[in-house]
Parts: sequence; C-alpha cells; structure tokens
Amino acid sequence: MPLSFRVLGGPGSDNALFVTVDTGQRTTRLLFDCGDGCPHALAVADLLNTEHLFFSHFHIDHVAGFDHFFRINFDRSEPVVSLWVPPNGTEVLHHRFRGYEWNLVGERQRGTWEVHEIGAERVRTTRYFTREAFRTGHPAGERPRVPVVVEGDGYTVEAVQLDHGCPSMGYVVREASRVNVDTAKLAERGFAPGAWLKRLRGPAAQAGEIVAVNGTEYPLALLQAELLTTTPGESVAYLTDFRLDAATQELLAERLRRVTTVVCESQNLAADVELAEAAMHSTAREVATLAARAGVGRLILFHVSPRYLPFRLGEVLAEARAVFPNTTFPDGW
Ligand SMILES: [Zn+2]
Ligand SMILES: [Zn+2]
Repeated sequence: MPLSFRVLGGPGSDNALFVTVDTGQRTTRLLFDCGDGCPHALAVADLLNTEHLFFSHFHIDHVAGFDHFFRINFDRSEPVVSLWVPPNGTEVLHHRFRGYEWNLVGERQRGTWEVHEIGAERVRTTRYFTREAFRTGHPAGERPRVPVVVEGDGYTVEAVQLDHGCPSMGYVVREASRVNVDTAKLAERGFAPGAWLKRLRGPAAQAGEIVAVNGTEYPLALLQAELLTTTPGESVAYLTDFRLDAATQELLAERLRRVTTVVCESQNLAADVELAEAAMHSTAREVATLAARAGVGRLILFHVSPRYLPFRLGEVLAEARAVFPNTTFPDGW
C-alpha cells in the first residue's frame, strides 16, 4: 500500500500513530505524538528517517516518549528534524531540548531542529542547533496559516485545531491521486511499451505535443485521456483529546469528508458523557456519529479510558458500531 499506518501502544497505555507514504520512488515517515513507549516500538532506522513529528498537544501522555526520539535524532542534520506543535508548543519543546547537560557538544556538532507552531492565524518556525546546546531559538520565518501545513512528496498534511481545554491539533494525511496506465487498453491498441510510456504518465501534455508509438505519431493529450486512469489517494486522520461538541461535529464533518480512515480517541461511553465533558474528551457514540456524518471509510478507536479495561472495552466498540458499523480497534488490541 502506498499509504500505510500503525497505531502505537496498546489499550490503557499511551498511543501514537506512525504513517508511511511510499510513492515508489521514495518513502516518507511521519509520526503523530510521542507517548511513553511509542517511538520505542519503531525501528531505529524508521526514527532516524521520520521527517515530521506532529504533536496534538503536550499533556504528558502524548510527549512522555519524546526523549527516545530526541536521543536518536539529536545530532541529525539530514533531513532536518521537523516538529509541528499547537499554540505555545515551541516553549514547551525548548524546555525539553534544554533539559540536559550539553557541555560536550562542540562548534562542529551536527543537529538542526525546526519547530513549526501552528497558531490561529500564522505558522511560526523557530530553528534550534545542537551545537548551541539548543540555547537560542532562531526565528526562521512565518506564514499565514492555511489548512495544508505540509506539502510533501506525494502527500499533504492538514491541521485542524480542536478544543481540549487547551488547543489540540488534529491532522489529516492525504496521499496524492495515483495515475496509472490502463494496461488492458494498451494491449487492445497493440501499443508496445517503450520510452514514450514514461512521458505518457505525466506531466500533462503541452499544446500540440506529439509522441511516437510503434513508429506512428499521436497527439499526447489524446493518449493521456485514453490510456491513463486516476485513482484518488488514501487518507488517514489522527484526532485525539478533544471535546466533540456540536460546533466541532460541524467543523469535522466538513474537514473529514471522504477520508479513508479516521483514527480517533473515544475516551468514554455515552453513559459517562459528563466525565467526557469534564476532561474535554469525546464518547464512542459521538465519534461514530461524526464518522457517519462525514461519510468516512472506516473508524479506528483508540485512547480509551482505563476505567473500561479490561472487561468493558467491548462495550466501547459496540456503542460505536451501533452508529457506524465499520469501526474497529487497532490491530493487536
Ligand atoms: Zn490531553
Ligand atoms: Zn491524552
């Protein structure tokens, strides 16, 4: 699968989401939150090549595993470590960076970290260097906040701010549409494969552009229209720690429309909605209602309150399935 993902951490422990996007030419690794034990579940090679780490918020269960990620990547220059945080998150991370003795780092010590703070109006980037013992945050640009915060190779990541008493960022990874050659039509036309096929795949034909196939010339635009098929990419949303009130239902129903998979917290059963309200969390029924409204492909529930462990976990799933049948827990739960 070009887009794949894995929920890290079991029921009752901290969780995170690891996503890979494989374009065929290149694999991108993305990590969402860094709960206790979560990065530890990944291979060191995956952590060394995680391009972006996205934080929802900085309650301890979402950042307690960060030291492991930090230790493995502290001297990384390529790719630059890129962290995405909610409002005020830059300060929190700066404290994490500074929480060690760095007397042994020298002028030539490698390591560059970029923190992108997703504010209501603007995204502000601050750069830190290991060689400076992370002492100084260097302003490294700011830009207007738009829904898409990362435009990567074959994918995008959108951010949406949710309310958890503090801001909690939700994220949606969308794989770019896949363009394939219709091999059945190719055979039907008797077209032999060749260098022209690479050109056929893209980019789009320029006005009047001609290609030769089996010694005959054809307008490229016509061949592209006839022989290429476009399949929408997969997508996965990561939503955790937020109160799913009516206004948020409205917002997310729009933002999650046709998302293939939604990985979403479901802290409480509907019978305990006052607990969910008090801690600014959501119930299984509310989350399933959102999935149904947004017409998503499937729903995966995680971040369930330990109060339902181990015997009442099934009730959480059953409550969601009554509203949105295609609901599961992560593999291995
Ligand atoms: Zn929280
Ligand atoms: Zn949490």
